[in-house]
Amino acid sequence: MRATVQKFFPIVVVGGGAGGLELVTALARAGHRDVLLIDRNACHVWKPRLHEMAAGLGAADVDEISYATVAEHWGFSFRQGTLSDVSPQDRTITVGAVRNADGAVIVPEFKVNYDALVLALGGVTPDLGVDGVHEHSLMLDDGKDAEEMFVRLSRGLLAKSLMSDASAFEVVIAGSGSTGVELASHLIESRQCNTIAPRADLPEIRVTMLEATDEIMPGLSDEVRRGIRERLEKQGVRVETRQLVSRVTECAVETDDGARFRSDLTAWTTGIVGPRIAEDIAALDTNEKRQWCVKPTLQTLASDAIFALGDCAAIEDDPAPPSAQAASEQAAHLARYLPRWLFEGQTPEPFEFRNKGTVLSLGDGGSIAKVRTRFTDDFMIGDRFARAAYRGLYRQHQFHILGSVKGTQDWLADILQRGVGPRLKVFG
Ligand SMILES: Cc1cc2nc3c(=O)[nH]c(=O)nc-3n(C[C@H](O)[C@H](O)[C@H](O)COP(=O)(O)OP(=O)(O)OC[C@H]3O[C@@H](n4cnc5c(N)ncnc54)[C@H](O)[C@@H]3O)c2cc1C
Repeated sequence: MRATVQKFFPIVVVGGGAGGLELVTALARAGHRDVLLIDRNACHVWKPRLHEMAAGLGAADVDEISYATVAEHWGFSFRQGTLSDVSPQDRTITVGAVRNADGAVIVPEFKVNYDALVLALGGVTPDLGVDGVHEHSLMLDDGKDAEEMFVRLSRGLLAKSLMSDASAFEVVIAGSGSTGVELASHLIESRQCNTIAPRADLPEIRVTMLEATDEIMPGLSDEVRRGIRERLEKQGVRVETRQLVSRVTECAVETDDGARFRSDLTAWTTGIVGPRIAEDIAALDTNEKRQWCVKPTLQTLASDAIFALGDCAAIEDDPAPPSAQAASEQAAHLARYLPRWLFEGQTPEPFEFRNKGTVLSLGDGGSIAKVRTRFTDDFMIGDRFARAAYRGLYRQHQFHILGSVKGTQDWLADILQRGVGPRLKVFG
């Protein structure tokens, strides 16, 4: 089908994740209603909760939010579609057709002209060229991945519970960054899910986490790593360092020194690189991690009219970490400076990342956080305070996109649901 120029919007944001959705709501709340958000999905799920979905919470429990509803509420526009090209010369993007499960086109390919474009497409997990990763392991890049992981886990547990000599259900997680750590700690608790089968009938879940370097969570201080490792081991997670994975098979993970770890479910959580589409957009420069290179003002090197934020972007010489915290700060920065650049001709201020610390949720292993405030250096907090800090990050995101009234309603509903609802749900 022939692509047609559908519309012009002064500001177009592609990707409604942790950064993009906060940006469009902030712009609309400040009175800039001629903003278009494009996302390949119809609904938003906050990515830092994917490990909870993988361990059994349904999309509704992690507050899946319809983009159309948020758009209607704040007065910006939304179109579902997948970005397929960017043409900086004529300030146009191409958005691929949306198809249903049978492949039939629901929304045809369309083009949009912009004055300012923000790319907020997030990133994906790299396979690191390891044999068998795509065929035999699961990544945790979006809601569908998380649901699939829980389906495989539930089915595997059910199948084992029907065998007379049921051995443990083995989960191997390759990679010990925040995604791997949070996933390990939540998956090991999945056996408490008495909606799959009576607890007594379920096999033990064993979780092994493999890390290629000497210690888990590369990039964090020794104190934080020690705290995390202690908590994981207390939960029963087996942590194996200096294990460089060389091959993943249907039922095992093999390392370059010949070790073999039996696996009924392999999760691949080896960091983050830019989106695959970045390779196809010849006009925009990428770094070795396939992220779009941006100046400190978050403008791309190729065009001042194209900005990029969050996991899909890397600031020259001073990249911010791939985190929801950084994406959110960048969204707030652009909400302030992009309209001034566009409508008043002001040069945007450079973005400066204010690291507020690291917060990890480790299920029943508690939470752990290294926090930094304007008035203090880093300090460690544990359990109840860290859990509150973790929840606080999410609440902040909810309040950004829903506003204070709806945000408070959802918060209260969440507290009630946690009190009365099942810990985990069986797949539908
Ligand atoms: C399990 C897990 C736990 C985490 N825990 C934390 C944590 O505790 N704290 C923290 O700060 N960070 C955490 N992170 C990292 C954090 O989730 C990401 O860094 C953050 O979501 C990045 O935000 P973003 O806006 O750049 O991209 P994303 O939030 O990934 O959003 C990208 C959006 O772009 C859309 N999109 C992608 N490609 C296209 C396309 N071609 N066309 C149209 N739309 C497209 C996607 O559908 C998505 O909505 C965690 C991540 C994971 C996986």
